[in-house]
Amino acid sequence: MSDRDDFAAGPLDSRRAQIEALVPAAMRLVADWEDRFGPYAVHPSTALDPAALDAALSAFAQRMDTNYPFFHPRFAGQMLKPPHPAAVAGYLAGMLVNTNNHSLDGGPATTWMEREAVTQIAAMLGLPDDGIGHLTGGGTVANLEALFVARQLRPGTAVAHSAQSHYTHARMCHVLGIESRAIPCDAAGRMDLDALEAQLKTGEVGTVVLTAGTTGTGAVDPIRDALGLRDRYGVRLHVDAAYGGFFTLLARGRDPLVPADLSAVGACDSVVIDPHKHGLQPYGCGAILLGDPDLSRFYQHDSPYTYFTSDDLHLGEIALECSRPGASAAALWFTLQLLPLEAERGLGPILAASLRAARDFGGRVRDGDALVLLQAPPLDIVTYFPDRAAASAVDAASRAVLEAGMAADDPVFLSLLQVDADALAAARPGLARDADGASVLRSVLMKPEHELATAWLHGRVSALAAAAG
Ligand SMILES: *Cc1c(COP(=O)(O)O)cnc(C)c1O
Repeated sequence: MSDRDDFAAGPLDSRRAQIEALVPAAMRLVADWEDRFGPYAVHPSTALDPAALDAALSAFAQRMDTNYPFFHPRFAGQMLKPPHPAAVAGYLAGMLVNTNNHSLDGGPATTWMEREAVTQIAAMLGLPDDGIGHLTGGGTVANLEALFVARQLRPGTAVAHSAQSHYTHARMCHVLGIESRAIPCDAAGRMDLDALEAQLKTGEVGTVVLTAGTTGTGAVDPIRDALGLRDRYGVRLHVDAAYGGFFTLLARGRDPLVPADLSAVGACDSVVIDPHKHGLQPYGCGAILLGDPDLSRFYQHDSPYTYFTSDDLHLGEIALECSRPGASAAALWFTLQLLPLEAERGLGPILAASLRAARDFGGRVRDGDALVLLQAPPLDIVTYFPDRAAASAVDAASRAVLEAGMAADDPVFLSLLQVDADALAAARPGLARDADGASVLRSVLMKPEHELATAWLHGRVSALAAAAG
């Protein structure tokens, strides 16, 4: 697969063909709607000078040229990939109208699309059908809202989250003036529930944040057992499923492809999920879901500007953000029309392909000589490192592979994860602990195309690891 032409096979072409079909269709749909309102005089101030346009376009192309190829299987680094062409078309149509889902006044069509899409996601997660929820700018704001609601319900108590949870939890607790406590994890990166229970016994913790798919390794916390602790200690359970939430699609059935704890997400009190991670959406699309509709009382406010056209719920009445892009809702709704949240068709097979890619690549790493597997991938994130005898050498070799991979003629784009010496030594017996920890390599295989490129990827990274000093 080192020959560049090998990558030009079917899947890339079909993505481009989808864009070329869907984007003009979205433009036409909006133009037809606009035409219904009759012609109007165009103001000369909005005219473009063709020469200036040429210059701006070539400057733009130059800037865009420096991007990493997130769309390509060569990009096996961070959690980044382009949105599905359906999302691009939906977003484009929504953006051309530029609705504001703050209120039904600003986004009459897209508010209903948002409500339907959020209902579908809540059903996928197994949340109660009368819960409330909405889209946000991303997982950060969604988690901020969940922690805000938790603070209102459990004033004066601390929030516990795992040591491997996203850094946003400690940070947003700081913003909200809540104490946060990091709970240690086991070797697989899952919250240690004995350590959690010791904290709960103090009576000082009111809310526990569980992570369904950590950003570093994809670990899923023991959610089912945590439900028992909720009953015993009366704490509130929030699940940060920003990364892993869509994998619940594959958690049911006789042979679940993913950790069974994902099927317990819906029994928790609030959930955050990021459609801009595994829901095929462009950035700017997170979601917060609350099981209890009465919690809307915490958002109460008056708006002298909006909420005039309808007595139905305006989403601004249950959100902290004011203006929000209706285009995000249009993109998500339209995507779900084409790719429903189902295991056997739509999104399910896309996610299943990236899981198989991670397992296959992880197996190749484990069976080969040049690399060591840090842990079996719980989802689609593989963590591994060049086989070296000491922690400091692992660190140097991982960094060298990252750099050399990006600079090569046959490039590969990876990412790094900082891990402690215990985790390294558990994966590679006999490792000299001459440092507290090391950077290891991390590949988020979140594109289905990665399934077709694992042999190439393993060969490429192994060669780089062997060559790294
Ligand atoms: C990405 C992520 C976040 C942060 O969300 P943004 O969408 O980047 O704001 C929080 N938690 C987890 C588990 C994540 O993967």
